[in-house]
Amino acid sequence: MTEDPYWAWLNENIRKGKHQSSDPQSKPPAHMQVSDYNSAFEQICRMRDEFLKSYPGDLSNPKGAKAMMWDIDGYVDPTNEPIGHNALTTPPIEVNPYELATLHYLLRSSIVLGADIGADGMQSFTKFSEACARQAHFMLATRQELPVPAWLRDFKDALKSAGVASSAAIDKIAVSTTLRSQIYAYSYPAQHRIEVSAVTREHLRTVNLVLCSMSSAILDPRTRPNALKAADNIADFLLPYVFSLYFPCVNYSSLPMPRARNGYVFSVAHRAAQVQAKFLLAHEYAHVLNHGDKKPGRGLELEADNFAYDLLFEYPEFGESDDSYLIYTSAKWLFLYLSLDRIVGAVLSDYDIDWVDLPIRDRDALLIPRASTVKGTMEQQALQQMGDVLLFKAKYTLKARGSEWIKAAARDFETRHCF
Ligand SMILES: [Zn+2]
Repeated sequence: MTEDPYWAWLNENIRKGKHQSSDPQSKPPAHMQVSDYNSAFEQICRMRDEFLKSYPGDLSNPKGAKAMMWDIDGYVDPTNEPIGHNALTTPPIEVNPYELATLHYLLRSSIVLGADIGADGMQSFTKFSEACARQAHFMLATRQELPVPAWLRDFKDALKSAGVASSAAIDKIAVSTTLRSQIYAYSYPAQHRIEVSAVTREHLRTVNLVLCSMSSAILDPRTRPNALKAADNIADFLLPYVFSLYFPCVNYSSLPMPRARNGYVFSVAHRAAQVQAKFLLAHEYAHVLNHGDKKPGRGLELEADNFAYDLLFEYPEFGESDDSYLIYTSAKWLFLYLSLDRIVGAVLSDYDIDWVDLPIRDRDALLIPRASTVKGTMEQQALQQMGDVLLFKAKYTLKARGSEWIKAAARDFETRHCF
């Protein structure tokens, strides 16, 4: 992967990170040492190895490592005629480069590459990516509306069949997507309107891919030593995506594209992103359906979260109810990732950083009473725990490097990845 300029950028950042973290000024607090994370990694691996001695498990299955994988919930439908053909008739109109890059990112994200894809596969993907760019240009030049993603449409139907509100009330709510580079869902109860950023699901899937691929490589004894070295730099793998949420003109198309270690890893990352996007959307539906003109506050926020958890865990209409552990994992990772997001946000806005972040902790604390009903295999548990530890380690790294380092890295990101 080293020939890829995005990975080269990432590696460069990683080197800087190493340099900075050895700076005595940014020493971690005594109660929080790197060895804690190493022993957490070791412990999860030990448990996993013990229970799966004679069974290699899905996480290590090489199937898919050399493939291009379709994300069936993406913006490109593989059963349709090839995209990009419209571009032959595209008028030579200047379009907004930011919108072009974001739309290109969305279309191109419909394919995820396996980690060991060959030269032929790379060539096909490059062609696909070029066709996506032409299609994105065509859509902007002809002022086409952003298509409503499949997960948004399905969600509305699922909500109706769950019977938690009348079909009329649900139909009254308009959901629209925007090209803003944020993980973002917002409701306007008085106007019966919800707005979602189109990149939400794709962004979260990308983050899940980083976590799943790295976790599965650590859990696999054959790849563990190298994967543990990579895990030292987990913060650097995640930061480009976190930074992308804080700049208005991000060239999304230039962000690193993580690959899936295998088909199973892709499937977990994809399904977890579905759950996370649906969680954010369900939360907003709760505000519009149940909160009307009530005064906003912590109570209503937790009520909206509980509404979302209930839908996901208790109604098969929402897609993953047979896999309660996946829902559990998805929610945990979402909030741990959002806490990185809030740290970076505080640094860039010069606010005090809330390292404990109770508002976020409150939200995943709602999972605790449900934990006893959640069922998962040993392997699923190991994957979730490993992902948790990686996210905590990333948070720890940010703390150790300090605000000035984060600001410098953000400036560097801006030069490389913003219009
Ligand atoms: Zn809310």
